[in-house]
Amino acid sequence: MIERPNSKAVDRKGRLALPATRLPIRDPEVRIRDFGEACEPWDLEAARAEAERCIQCPAAPCVRACPLGNDIPYALWLLEHRDIEAAASVFRSTNTMPEVCGRVCPQSELCEGACVYARQGRPPVAIGRLEAFVADRAPEPFPELTAPTGRRAAVVGAGPAGLTVAEKLAVRGHAVTVYDAWPAPGGILRYGIPTFKMSHRLVDERAARLETLGVRFVPSTRVGRDVTVEQLFDDGCEAVFLGIGAGVQRDAQIEGVDLPGVYQATPFLVGANVERVLRPDALRPGVSVGRRAAVVGGGDTAMDCVRTALRLGAEEVTCWYRRTEREMPGNERDRDLARQEGARFEWLVQPTRLLPGPDGRVTAMECVRMRLGEPDSSGRRRPVKVAGTAFRVEVDTVILALGYLPDGDTVHGIPGLEVDDRALIETDPRSGATSREGLYAGGDAVLGPALVVTAVQHGMRAAEAMHRQLTAGAVTADCSS
Ligand SMILES: Cc1cc2nc3c(=O)[nH]c(=O)nc-3n(C[C@H](O)[C@H](O)[C@H](O)COP(=O)(O)OP(=O)(O)OC[C@H]3O[C@@H](n4cnc5c(N)ncnc54)[C@H](O)[C@@H]3O)c2cc1C
Repeated sequence: MIERPNSKAVDRKGRLALPATRLPIRDPEVRIRDFGEACEPWDLEAARAEAERCIQCPAAPCVRACPLGNDIPYALWLLEHRDIEAAASVFRSTNTMPEVCGRVCPQSELCEGACVYARQGRPPVAIGRLEAFVADRAPEPFPELTAPTGRRAAVVGAGPAGLTVAEKLAVRGHAVTVYDAWPAPGGILRYGIPTFKMSHRLVDERAARLETLGVRFVPSTRVGRDVTVEQLFDDGCEAVFLGIGAGVQRDAQIEGVDLPGVYQATPFLVGANVERVLRPDALRPGVSVGRRAAVVGGGDTAMDCVRTALRLGAEEVTCWYRRTEREMPGNERDRDLARQEGARFEWLVQPTRLLPGPDGRVTAMECVRMRLGEPDSSGRRRPVKVAGTAFRVEVDTVILALGYLPDGDTVHGIPGLEVDDRALIETDPRSGATSREGLYAGGDAVLGPALVVTAVQHGMRAAEAMHRQLTAGAVTADCSS
C-alpha cells in the first residue's frame, strides 16, 4: 500500500495553484424529466485531478470537521496515486456507508467547509464526490467473519444508525435481527431521501450485504405495538439497539390540512420515490401534483419535496418559508440545485388557511407576510405576523414539510428508559448505553432530526459497546456526561 506523504515533500504552493475540476452534473432541463441522480460519475482522471488539489495539511481540518473522523487526506492521496481500493478502504474503516455519505452529507458545513480552499473563498476540494467516487468504483470486499459467538442482539429501526450496528455486530459473529416498521430496510435513506439525491440501489445493496452476513430483517413490524422490547430480551437478545429515528411529522396548525391535494412530506416523498411494492398499503396509490405546487417549510425535506414536485411535472413549484433564506436550515447545495431546476422561493410568508374548490380539493392557500422579531430558543429570529398583509394564492397541491419530532409513544412505552422532555432518548455519549441495562440508542432518536453521518457515528459507537457487553459483561450507562 502507498504510504502517507511526507508532509514536507508535498508542494503545497503548486497544489494551491491547481484549478478546481468541473463537477459533472446533468442539465437541469434534462434531469427534472426523471428521478435519476442529478450528479454524474467522475471519470478517473478528473477525480485524480481533483484529489491532487488536496494540499495534505498536517492539521487536517477536514478530518476534524467530519463526525466520523474520516482520514480524508490519506484517502485522497491514495486516489491520486490510482489506488482506488485502498482509498475506499480508508473511508470504509471509519464509515459503514461512504457511498451514501459522499452523496448526501452537507459537506459545505462539514469537511469541505473546513477545507483550506473554502477558508480562502475558493471552491473546496470536492471531498464528498470523491468519497462517493472511490466507494462506487472499488467493490466492497467481503469481511473476514468471526466464528459465531452464540450471542444475540436486536436492532429496532433499519435506518443508517441501525444498519451500522447490525453490520458491525454481525461481522463479529453475533446473531442480529433487525425490526422495522416500514416494509423494507433503509429508514429515511429509502423512505425520505429521493432517488435523484441518492439511488435506492445503494440501500438495496447494503441490505443484501447484511443478509449475506447473516443479519435477519423483520419488516413491517412496529416495536411497541407488534412486539415489545421486553419480548426481545425475553426471547434471548442480550443487547438491543433503538435506532428509531425522529419520524413523527410536526402538525400544521392551520385549517384545511385534511383536504385532498394536501400532503405531509413523508407520504409525498414515499409515494413519488419508493417503488410501489415497497410502500405500505396506505401509500400504494401514489401522488399527483397538478400544475401549481406549494411546499410549506424549509430544510432538506422541503427541498426534496420541491424537487420531487418538479419531477412529477408541476410547472410552478414554490417553497413558502416563514423566515428568510439566512435562517433556513438544510443543505445549501440542494437549494442551489432546486433553483437551477426552476423552484421559486417566497421568504417571510406563513400560510394561515387552505381552501377547497367546488370539487373539494385544495385550490387556494391564504397567507400572511412575516417580519423577523427577537431570537427564539433556537437562536434564530422569531417570525412575527405583519398585520394587514393577508393574501391568497391559487394552488393545485400543498406539501407540508414542517419538520419532524421524536416518537414519544414508543419511547414512553419502554420501562426504565429515560428520555428528556422532547422524548429524545438519554444516552451515555461514549457508548450509546441508555438508562436501562442492555438497551442502547443512537441517531435521530437521541439527537432529534440530524444527519446520516451522525446516525452512522452513533451506530459505530454503540456497536463497539454492545460487542463489549456481548463478549465480556454488562455496560453501565452514565447519561449525565
Ligand atoms: C426527507 C429527508 C431528507 C433528508 N436529507 C438528508 C440529507 O440530504 N443528508 C443528511 O445527512 N441527512 C438528511 N436527512 C436526515 C437523515 O436522513 C436522518 O438524520 C437519518 O436518516 C437518521 O438516521 P436514523 O437511523 O437515526 O433514523 P431513520 O433513518 O429515521 O430510521 C429510523 C427507522 O426506525 C423505524 N422505526 C421507528 N419506530 C419504530 C418502531 N417503534 N418499531 C420498528 N421500527 C421503527 C423507522 O421505520 C425507520 O425505518 C433527511 C431527512 C429527511 C426526513
